[in-house]
Amino acid sequence: MGKIIAVANQKGGVAKTTTAINLGAALALAGKKVLLVDTDPQANLTSGLGFPKEGLPVTIYDMLVDGVKEEGILETEISGLYLIPSTVELAGAEIELVMLEERELRLKKVLLPIKDKYDYILIDSPPSLGLITLNGLAAADTILIPIQCEYYALEGVTQLINTIDLVKKRLNPDLKIEGVLLTMFDGRTNLSIQVVEEVKGFFKGLVYGTVIPRNVRLSEAPSYGKPIFLYDPKCRGAEVYHELAKEVMERNEK
Ligand code: ADP
Ligand code: MG
Repeated sequence: MGKIIAVANQKGGVAKTTTAINLGAALALAGKKVLLVDTDPQANLTSGLGFPKEGLPVTIYDMLVDGVKEEGILETEISGLYLIPSTVELAGAEIELVMLEERELRLKKVLLPIKDKYDYILIDSPPSLGLITLNGLAAADTILIPIQCEYYALEGVTQLINTIDLVKKRLNPDLKIEGVLLTMFDGRTNLSIQVVEEVKGFFKGLVYGTVIPRNVRLSEAPSYGKPIFLYDPKCRGAEVYHELAKEVMERNEK
């Protein structure tokens, strides 16, 4: 059975996309078959894997309208890692989606027929709680929440939890929290250390033991269109995403 995990947090810049790419790649390198689904009109996951943000013949946009299209599932440079790309045109699609029937369940319908072909399907969400994010949460088994170790780290978390509760009531009663990931940790600052404590106090055992530090290589890799493992496989950023993948597999496969 494939597991569908939505990487979501309506805050921008918390490392949703970085986590989707590098957790996905690490799981694939560990021998899993992984599908990444880019649902953000910014298409950073698509470009971060070396594909153009415009001009691909088939994207998630077409699939949300018409259902899954196998020819739109792209192979990446990492064996076992596949991508359904996004496109900047998806920005306009949110309005079109509103007019389709079962508008919150379009992504679920795309993924249902292919779910069992993969061990993990990771959905990268846009920075909002709009219809596209709702589609992700309705399609997912679980949500993985990245939280940046910064001022106001927990700001917006109440709203996110309320949205999860609403999705459980209306669209997806079995939705669970996969885990909470602390990102961009800077061990030299008290602030980062405080945020870790605060988030652990709030989410308790859901917080991963693996904390992602600030690592400049992680921020450089996307401009080369590569997951960290093909850009600088020995850097700390690569190491920690391997550790995170191990933790995710342990939670799911024990
Ligand atoms: P989101 O998808 O939540 O908007 P991104 O994954 O795009 O967030 O990350 C926001 C920015 O921070 C990007 O420029 C990314 O390269 C950078 N970034 C992400 N994780 C790290 C990290 N651990 N260390 C340094 N920079 C990071
Ligand atoms: Mg993103």
